[in-house]
Amino acid sequence: MRLGHLGAILGLWLTLLHVGCLGRSRDAAPTPMPRPRVVPAPVETPGALVPPGLRLEAGVRPTRQSVTLELDPRQETFRGEVDVELSLSEPTRVLWLHGTELTLRRAHVQTADSRVPVEAMPVGEDLLAFVAEAPLAPGTVTLHVEYSGRAYDKEDSGVFREQEEGRWYAMTQFQPLYARRAFPCFDEPGFKIPWSLTLRVRAEDAAFSNMPVRAEEPGAEGWKTVRFQPTPPLPTYLVAFAVGPFDAVDAGTAGEAKVPVRMLVPRGRGAEAAYAASVTAPLLAQLEEWFGSPYPYSKLDVLAVPGLVGGAMEHPGLITFGAPLMLRTPETDTLWRQRGFAETQAHELAHQWFGNLVTPAWWDDLWLNESFADWLAFKVVKRWQPTWRADVRRVEARGQAMQEDWLVTARSIRQPIESPGDIHGAFDGITYGKGAAVLAMFESSVGQDAFQRGVRHYLRTHASGIATTEDFFHALSLEAGQDVAPAFSTFLDQPGVPLVAMTLQCPKDGAPRLALEQKRYLPLGAKDTSGPHGWHVPLCVRYAVGAKEGRACTVLTGASDTLELSEAKGCPDWVHPNADARGYYHALLRGDGLEKLARRGGSRLTVPERLVLMADARALVGSGELDVGQALTLVARLGEGDAELVSSAAEVVDSVHRDLVPDSLRSHRARFVRGLFGGRARAVGFVSRPGESEETRLMRPSLLSMATTEGEDPRLRAEARRLTLRWLQDRSTLAPEDRATVLSAAAAAGDAELHQRLREAARTATDEERRLLLATLGGFRDVTLANKSLELLLDAKVDTREALAILFGLLSEAPTREVAFTFLHEHFDALRERLPRDLTTWLLGGGGFFCDAAHRDEVARVFGPRARDVEGGERVLAQSLERVDQCIAQREALRPGLTRFLARY
Ligand SMILES: [Zn+2]
Repeated sequence: MRLGHLGAILGLWLTLLHVGCLGRSRDAAPTPMPRPRVVPAPVETPGALVPPGLRLEAGVRPTRQSVTLELDPRQETFRGEVDVELSLSEPTRVLWLHGTELTLRRAHVQTADSRVPVEAMPVGEDLLAFVAEAPLAPGTVTLHVEYSGRAYDKEDSGVFREQEEGRWYAMTQFQPLYARRAFPCFDEPGFKIPWSLTLRVRAEDAAFSNMPVRAEEPGAEGWKTVRFQPTPPLPTYLVAFAVGPFDAVDAGTAGEAKVPVRMLVPRGRGAEAAYAASVTAPLLAQLEEWFGSPYPYSKLDVLAVPGLVGGAMEHPGLITFGAPLMLRTPETDTLWRQRGFAETQAHELAHQWFGNLVTPAWWDDLWLNESFADWLAFKVVKRWQPTWRADVRRVEARGQAMQEDWLVTARSIRQPIESPGDIHGAFDGITYGKGAAVLAMFESSVGQDAFQRGVRHYLRTHASGIATTEDFFHALSLEAGQDVAPAFSTFLDQPGVPLVAMTLQCPKDGAPRLALEQKRYLPLGAKDTSGPHGWHVPLCVRYAVGAKEGRACTVLTGASDTLELSEAKGCPDWVHPNADARGYYHALLRGDGLEKLARRGGSRLTVPERLVLMADARALVGSGELDVGQALTLVARLGEGDAELVSSAAEVVDSVHRDLVPDSLRSHRARFVRGLFGGRARAVGFVSRPGESEETRLMRPSLLSMATTEGEDPRLRAEARRLTLRWLQDRSTLAPEDRATVLSAAAAAGDAELHQRLREAARTATDEERRLLLATLGGFRDVTLANKSLELLLDAKVDTREALAILFGLLSEAPTREVAFTFLHEHFDALRERLPRDLTTWLLGGGGFFCDAAHRDEVARVFGPRARDVEGGERVLAQSLERVDQCIAQREALRPGLTRFLARY
């Protein structure tokens, strides 16, 4: 699964602004939705019923399930019938299944020779009990249940409904715990069974599911019955269906078995799926080649979910995408959107093997799905489109995951699951980004071929079944000829980033060597009480003696060790501490190592290697181990040239400034930023030109937003305003990919008149334009205007999900942070009524942008009680408070160095 709105709160804001996981507004005023669940739910137990804990009991196992649903997307409820075939290993009186907000009507158990009545009742919020008079004998029985359920119109999980152009559509999203809202079931990934699905729908609606249609029969009064072929064994979370006036666009065939491919889109939007249709088959071919086995399902539909749904979900045979990511008219399409779609599609297609064919036995092994899908997506996209340089994207994603891993409160990749909140929390940047980076590191360490054989071995052994991390270790160790488990576990089962300090020693008698030491990287202000951490760190360094380059590798297992540079014929001119950017660690080059590397080695380093150095510099400033002036000088030197280097340099400069710069030095900082980016920004300009290189197009947003917004370049500011006003009059005057950069630059220095014009435009704009305009309204720095923007979050005509971009935009900037936070906590309950549950959780991270003790206390005071009332809320709040603590500590520690450095500008 790729969820546009999960991850760090800052990530959320960036995603909302740049990727555009936003949807269309609704005509109707929002209806109240159920309160988020409190975990664990207190359970009322009738009589002597003792409900199971987090997991269902082992003595009862499902072996197959058929589901029949009568579903009209225009209606809030649907009716259902299930037959669950069960294997009982012991005499059983109570059958426990999962079920949430289902109204039970009738139930019985069919044994080999009789029909046994059962009393059916919901227990707590998640469970259903079916109680027989006397124990059922061991063996096979079938539980039959008739019920009705709710098709939500404010959630994007369970069975949910969206309206577009006055037409209603119903879709599903069951991962991780939402199948139980659609039917009684064993809602755990380890129960992998065949499903037979039948949908009774209105004659004018189309119906789709994981499998091809087996039969379609007309029914009475405008209904029809659509029966699907039985599925191969699937866990509940992969079952999917969709009903509504979708158009099906034939996209040919894909893969070795030439399975049919279709794009399923809301009525009339087929042409917008052209790009999605063109890239799906080539990406699948790349994956089949890597796996050495064909796509395991009989069809491949890719469905665009109308409305505001970000991200994508890998259901076998029916991959779903939020429409904004999958569909785009040629006039509004951008390079970013296309790359975003292709990378996400590669991830979802990789899941057809990782997760779908072989499924984790339980949620603590979610990394077997998400880390692997992310890691392989980078590899196949790189092979398929080399100019996109997915290896660079990999390093950027690694850097983002590390920032999440800096927190003392970070999860481990494999965190024990103790509550439903832990299951939801597992879908974070640690499981995705850190997991992918750790896989890349061990792939490099055992060798690409052995690693590929290990993965294939693992998939072959457990195809159509379930598996655990130990199964993967076993397969990989066999193929690699070494036990990989001890080293791998040090990265999977404990949080944190190793910091490896390296000291170059060139003794007179003997080869040069590096003295290595490791400890947990901790930013200033972090209070780690979890005891000593140690990793088995596979690491490789690259060095040069004159024109001759060499490399040396080791696995650092203890607190310290020595790495001989045995092939070096003399003391190296420079040493790069992380060859090919494969290692998951920060490196500290002691002495003048960093200075020499930047000065002498810079041009001989790859782009990923330079990115790693910048990420290390940023980290070391944060931990007080590198002077901020030195880091900024290094970044200025390394950040020339490629687009990714420019944006990485921009990110480092940006991170160092935020809240750290005293007011008296703000103009100095602006001059420094202008000096770094201004010349190139003016040369590139806001407006793209025909025939421009992809490189220039990629670089433009970082250059221009740094020079204008942070560098406060007056000429560029005036230009941004002029271009924005012209665009508001004539929408053909800016290319889609230039719009966000221009508008946000104009907003940062915008006045009341511009605010008013943008606000008016948002009322009549197209969907794409409205999302952009709302995000722009979150970029004003004037407090009065910020308050006006915030009003839109509660405006009945605006979809609050879209308007969240305003809130997070204002929270992320110092001048408007206070008003945005005041709004957030004063209107928290109203916002919660208008948002899906998982977004409510992330609202609790809104206090994490502050950088002073008084606000930290206020955030803890007002959000503390709320966090206990929202699933997963306590971890989100704890992490946001930790970010504030770090910022406070860094502000104190960095101020002298920053003052010294900026005074020169
Ligand atoms: Zn995924």
